[in-house]
Amino acid sequence: MKANQIPLPINKLPKKWYNIAPDLPDPLPPPKEPESGPSRAMFLKKTMINECLKQESSKDRWIDIPEEIRELYIQAGRPRPLYRARRLEKFLGLKNVRLYYKREDLSPTGSHKVNTALAQAFFAAEEGKTTLVTETGAGQWGSALSYAAKLMGLSCVVFWVRAVYDWKMDRRTFMRLLGATVHPSPSKKTKIGRELLTKDTKHPGSLGIAVSEGLEYASLNEGCVYSLGSVLNHVLIHQSIIGLETIEQFKLADDTPDLIVGCLGGGSNFGGIALPFAGEMLRGNLECEFLAAQSESAPNLIKGEYRYDFGDVAEQTPLLKMFTLGHQTEMKPIRADGLRYHAAAPLVSALRNREIVKAVAYPADEKVVFDAAKVFFQTEGWLIAPESAYAVRAGIDEALVADRAGAKKVILMNISGHGFLDIEAYRDKLRL
Ligand SMILES: *Cc1c(COP(=O)(O)O)cnc(C)c1O
Repeated sequence: MKANQIPLPINKLPKKWYNIAPDLPDPLPPPKEPESGPSRAMFLKKTMINECLKQESSKDRWIDIPEEIRELYIQAGRPRPLYRARRLEKFLGLKNVRLYYKREDLSPTGSHKVNTALAQAFFAAEEGKTTLVTETGAGQWGSALSYAAKLMGLSCVVFWVRAVYDWKMDRRTFMRLLGATVHPSPSKKTKIGRELLTKDTKHPGSLGIAVSEGLEYASLNEGCVYSLGSVLNHVLIHQSIIGLETIEQFKLADDTPDLIVGCLGGGSNFGGIALPFAGEMLRGNLECEFLAAQSESAPNLIKGEYRYDFGDVAEQTPLLKMFTLGHQTEMKPIRADGLRYHAAAPLVSALRNREIVKAVAYPADEKVVFDAAKVFFQTEGWLIAPESAYAVRAGIDEALVADRAGAKKVILMNISGHGFLDIEAYRDKLRL
């Protein structure tokens, strides 16, 4: 019997997260305070989860995953299977190339973001907090945090860019079903929101405004902490669970990847799958290439500069050294909204700077990307998130080039999420 699924038994769920910082070729440039304004580091100390801030600057290669978080991971369906894409290989007529994909789409809220949401909710509860506060753009992060908060018995307050809140009714209901309080941003709940609403009662909002509202709300209300879903080191540390499981699964399959592909907006799913393998490579145990799939709407690793910049439009974070397009750059809206971020995570940026990570960007009309998602659905049978379709597009393109050249190659793609709440995007892009 040919089994295309490579599961990992529950007792093999990793006991430690991986932190690539100590294995990097150059020391990671530390965060910096901007020249003017209040200390951003002090502000974050007051509004964020202490354990996460500690992990943010950790030099430890391995960080224990508390047993309670491992139980939460199992509750949420971990370990997640690795699949060999035999039907896609056959459809593409591949003779030399083998394709695999990791199934983060099997997440309860539809994306890999639960891996850090559960960890953050657990640490917040340990620190005696009662409420998780955040902003969301596309809605995946708000969904993941709503879920994690509910499992830990915490409240969750989400500030959601009004322009998206207004049309993504299904995801709004999803979050409320999990007990979250969801405000369209700008809202009347904060000073900055009220100011903007007096100027324009139908203000469409922006991610920067939503971040500012969330931080203001979290700093003024008792028991609140602010949670971030991508970019920061502690988020990539939590996401390392993806790659660590996959390393074990490749051992079971008696195979090794030559190329790892993931989509990249802020870098959390890409970092999650790639950094544990990159660490093996930096320690001399493996040869592998890494490819980030981006949108031409936000090609931070391709058109960006490697310099210090703010993590948010509202300039509330410290300055981080990243490949950035500039924190106030306007980016054309796309259906894969999760990829529309101005900068790539400092840990991924450091590897990009050393050319260990390569990148490709697809046109903002997203046509070739949705075509790839359709092929994937019709061969492998899984409806993936628009963001994940970028990884599949890049995986298919790389496979075809290698196969025509007669190169034996093993390609691993990360499927960051499912597309069940993105049917409208499919309808629009594929004219169905
Ligand atoms: C948020 C999200 C992304 C992009 O964020 P990264 O931090 O770059 O991973 C990609 N895919 C899905 C499904 C998402 O929800």
